[in-house]
Amino acid sequence: MSHKQKIVTIDGPSGVGKSTISRRVAQALSFTYLDTGAMYRAVGLKFKEAGLDMADETALRKCLDSISLNLLPAGEGSENVGVILDGRDVSQEIRSSEMSMIASRVSAFPAVREKLTYMQQEIGKKGEIVAEGRDTGTVVFPRAAWKFFLDADPEVRMHRRAKQLRSKGESVDEEELLKMIIKRDRDDQARSIAPLCKAKDALIIDTGLMTIDEVTQTMLKVIRKELT
Ligand code: C5P
Repeated sequence: MSHKQKIVTIDGPSGVGKSTISRRVAQALSFTYLDTGAMYRAVGLKFKEAGLDMADETALRKCLDSISLNLLPAGEGSENVGVILDGRDVSQEIRSSEMSMIASRVSAFPAVREKLTYMQQEIGKKGEIVAEGRDTGTVVFPRAAWKFFLDADPEVRMHRRAKQLRSKGESVDEEELLKMIIKRDRDDQARSIAPLCKAKDALIIDTGLMTIDEVTQTMLKVIRKELT
């Protein structure tokens, strides 16, 4: 444990219950919850609003350099962290299905990953973090003391995501949503840098077979065994 960081990483594909579980684990341990996906979503929104030509590497880097990005703890009764982009609250805006796909697209750019990985590692320096994403156990915090990889059948994940989107008033075409989820997973797994994959030393949990509470308790048991 001595050479390891007091950090929990929770990776996995979309709709697997990562956010809710990460937030609960963080709360139970009094650790800070770091939602790395929210950062990719915010960068996606910035690029979209700037009307950036994604093929223009110089413009992309310039736009990235000018970003001001702050994460706030989830508000009362909210599932999601607060995200302040260039002084504006974009917490809701970044959660649409469109922004999920845009985030996935921009996350494949090396300059974007470089910048966000650096920011995440800076936040993680003080330890006591629960980091959630696709590459937090493999690339961002390879020395994290506890690594988990959550997975579930795409159909199960689609139904979860549909429920979430409907609760926010978005209309949902389930067939279309399933296609988007499968495409996003495929793109996230296929990219050349920091693809979505399980860290060798991560514990896999199938969240399709357990309740959110059961997953949370299982993880807490593993963590608390070694927590000093
Ligand atoms: O987790 P969330 O659905 O908010 O992530 C949005 C997208 O951001 C993912 O589909 C993925 O492409 C990207 N992402 C990433 N690395 C992370 C977190 C998210 O590439 N650590």
